[in-house]
Amino acid sequence: MAAATASSAFPTRMYIDGAWREGTGGKTHAVVNPADESLVAEVAWAEGDEPNQAIEAAAKAFPAWRATSVYDRARILKRTAELIRERADRMARAMTMEQGKPLPEARAETLATADTYEWFAEEGKRAYGRIIPPTNVMKRYYAIKHPVGVVGSITPWNFPAALAARKIAAAMAAGCTIVSRPAEQTPISLILQFECLVEAGLPQGVANLVIGPAQPFANALFDNPAVRKISFTGSTRVGKELIRRSADHVKRLSLELGGHAPLIVFPDADVEQVAQAAVIGKFRNNGQVCISPSRFYVHDRIAKDFTEAAVESTKKLKVGSGLEEGTQVGPMLMRQGLEKAERLVADARGKGADVLLGGARSTRFEKGYWFEPTVMTRVNDSMRLLTEEPFAPVMPILDFKNLDDVIARANATPYGLAAYVFTNDLTVATRMAEGLEAGIIGINDPVPATPQCPFGGMKESGVGRELGFEGLDAYFETKYVAVGLRQS
Ligand code: NAP
Repeated sequence: MAAATASSAFPTRMYIDGAWREGTGGKTHAVVNPADESLVAEVAWAEGDEPNQAIEAAAKAFPAWRATSVYDRARILKRTAELIRERADRMARAMTMEQGKPLPEARAETLATADTYEWFAEEGKRAYGRIIPPTNVMKRYYAIKHPVGVVGSITPWNFPAALAARKIAAAMAAGCTIVSRPAEQTPISLILQFECLVEAGLPQGVANLVIGPAQPFANALFDNPAVRKISFTGSTRVGKELIRRSADHVKRLSLELGGHAPLIVFPDADVEQVAQAAVIGKFRNNGQVCISPSRFYVHDRIAKDFTEAAVESTKKLKVGSGLEEGTQVGPMLMRQGLEKAERLVADARGKGADVLLGGARSTRFEKGYWFEPTVMTRVNDSMRLLTEEPFAPVMPILDFKNLDDVIARANATPYGLAAYVFTNDLTVATRMAEGLEAGIIGINDPVPATPQCPFGGMKESGVGRELGFEGLDAYFETKYVAVGLRQS
């Protein structure tokens, strides 16, 4: 950690209790561009009591925020959405520099972030309760929505703006206050989002931004009784740790965890078109996407044609710095990602897989974290590539013969986040949608996530849902009120 904040083209401070703040003692943290390992910025770094200060500020702000009309809350969220859209170019550039994804992808994420604020601004107005018919005519029963209280948010680096917005906008719309922490590699996107919130009229303490080490932040969320809920997006490994820790405090948890999505192609599909869509879905953000397709099951009648088309499409991808015009695939975020990709490819190779394209680090770049887009065949379901979440630009192609067999193989994993099916046969599509164990099913759609639809996983891919009306409901307790009437 450096001792002082370096000057930067981007803002670098955290936001606690209505004020932009340096880290205690002036501590800073280096944000590095994964394309060339250059310094993007030194951001303020919370190694002191900042997590608790932010929690206390959120606790203090909660009663007034909860009592604020949903229409007034919505105005702030909507204005935030407008400001994000106005600043989309700058925000996208910062995201590309700290995360590596190509500018068009960063811009699309930024606009999806704005849409998320707008969605929850509107949806907050529809947090209806229920009037329940009583058994006794002298009673009245109601179920009403009660905001959970102070929320702690932890998000990863792969979608540094959109994933935090799913929590901040939903919590604020529900009348909760929030303390949000970005991944250490990608804090700038969230700082820029907070600038929009602040300019939109964010009241003191309602949303707070702490940038600092993960473990002390998590400790504060668990140990401080003011925090009523933790909303986490990240790996299944850390999610399980949070479940274990929540047992001591019965903290509410929403968990958006890892995935290993099958993409299944039936023989009636247009092979060329589907191969192109599959390649776009696979190499988006370098495969570092929780819903990235990572196992490609292709019917054996078309497997050869599909594989050839996928290789041709992958060869045409333009790999380079995300800031360069036309780039489709940028660097991976970090060295550990590269090393994991290498290990998984080596394991598969050692067990008989064929590498048709890529399969190694790229040697075209002097610095940065580059892995060649990779296509593999002769893989089988027991290879590590097929059992561990790869989070890498690797496309393993397998074949299958019938629907029941492919459903069983697709479901034979602890994960259950997303699954993709390509077919024009309505019966096949329906059987697959009903048979696959995944929270998100894309039928002829490789990019299904959108603010108005529920997003989340089955099995070890998570607990709860974000977005949609479910994403708002996650920030409410249901309170049942029984009223006895006077006899006269
Ligand atoms: P990760 O290691 O679990 O980290 C996720 C976040 O948790 C980061 O902010 C990280 O901080 C923090 N963290 C790490 N250890 C922690 C601990 N012991 N207690 C509390 N927080 C902790 O995951 P990742 O590798 O960065 O992200 C990729 C994973 O996220 C993949 O498995 C992916 O599938 C999943 N993901 C899921 C969704 C979804 O919606 N289901 C969406 C996106 C990503 P630092 O990075 O600063 O250490």
